[in-house]
Amino acid sequence: MEQLFVYVLSAILGLMVGSFLNVCIYRIPANVSLWWPPSTCPKCKTKIKFYDNIPVLSYLILGGKCRQCKEKISAQYPIIEAATSFLTLIVVWKFGLTYWAAVALLVTYCLLVLSIIDFQHFIIPDRFSLGLTILGLLVFFINPAFTGNITAKFIQCFIGGAVGFLGLWMLAIFGSLVFKKEAMGGGDIKLLAAVGTLTGLGGVISTLMISSFAGLVYYGTLMLLKKNPQDKTIPFGPFISLGLFVNILFPNNLMLLY
Ligand SMILES: [Zn+2]
Repeated sequence: MEQLFVYVLSAILGLMVGSFLNVCIYRIPANVSLWWPPSTCPKCKTKIKFYDNIPVLSYLILGGKCRQCKEKISAQYPIIEAATSFLTLIVVWKFGLTYWAAVALLVTYCLLVLSIIDFQHFIIPDRFSLGLTILGLLVFFINPAFTGNITAKFIQCFIGGAVGFLGLWMLAIFGSLVFKKEAMGGGDIKLLAAVGTLTGLGGVISTLMISSFAGLVYYGTLMLLKKNPQDKTIPFGPFISLGLFVNILFPNNLMLLY
């Protein structure tokens, strides 16, 4: 019963955070303050009332349209809110009510926002990649990916970050061979440093494997559908994020392969 209560609260928290993540996804690439002005309809500029801003529910009640001008509201809003709620549940289910769960949630939220931004604008804002790298360095002592005494843990965290940063060039070479163009940018390099400080050397290798595989499957599918992805810039942030998320949930999963 108590457990159920925790999950219901987590789901609601996720919906509310998801609402804020929508603001981040929309405003960070546009360089607009996250806190001001309040949300308005992009067409008629009417301020959105709090009761029309309830995650998922308002979208369904309003039939996906602005209450005033009936302009269509992007389905991205309720989808991000539902996805954030779902991801919050997964993290709380996995780590319970622990300090590490709070860290994992923060990482998850950042990954979701940066993935969508990278997918839409082909940039990974530094505040995410560098912020997550620093976060990893700050919380290494409670990170379940690292073992041994506190010095050993810090060394694993630091080596992970350094190798993540350098490992990018290996993947860049691999990517340029496969796609015949530069596959990764500076944003990806910095994000892999974060993978390192948050999941260690094994996490970097595992993340590179997962993200390369997911990326190849994704672009292979696009090519089969004749969408011709070679003409487009390739966002790799979403795939690195997927790999990092898997490694946050299942630290040291490379060991399991043996
Ligand atoms: Zn409107």
